[in-house]
Amino acid sequence: MTDANCIFCRIARGEIPCAKVYEDEYVLAFLDLAPVHPGHTLVIPKTHHKDMLEIPAGLGSAVFAAIQKVAAAVLEATGAQGFNVMQNNRLAAGQTVFHIHWHIIPRFEGDGLEMWAQGKYADGAAMQQMAAKVAACL
Ligand code: 5GP
Ligand code: ZN
Repeated sequence: MTDANCIFCRIARGEIPCAKVYEDEYVLAFLDLAPVHPGHTLVIPKTHHKDMLEIPAGLGSAVFAAIQKVAAAVLEATGAQGFNVMQNNRLAAGQTVFHIHWHIIPRFEGDGLEMWAQGKYADGAAMQQMAAKVAACL
């Protein structure tokens, strides 16, 4: 499960260098080339899957364990007080590399980074309606 032209597959195969921080049988973690803050790390499965709808659920535990390990190390190495785990799915959500990856972004108190705009529902009924609509698609 590798893609000849995918940049992250090429990194996983060792064809393109990366600043590696962690590797195991299933997962690789390396620094993002364009960090939000230094220490911003990407965790990827070594196999090629585009996004959350395509990755086998069974890989989740390996990814989860790697995120925990790497995030703890990023906190210690950077002195950050917190971190965000972000994962973009598809172009509309800001995904630019179509090999699934999780961003571990170290955060510092008062760093001013605003990731979420404030949205809201018209009222409680509108919120319940949306929940029902999503549930009906499961
Ligand atoms: P996305 O926008 O798809 O969630 O995130 C892709 C991330 O991959 C971006 O933050 C970008 O800086 C990073 N990136 C893209 N190409 C490379 C690369 O060749 N090496 C590294 N280390 N990071 C990359
Ligand atoms: Zn790939």
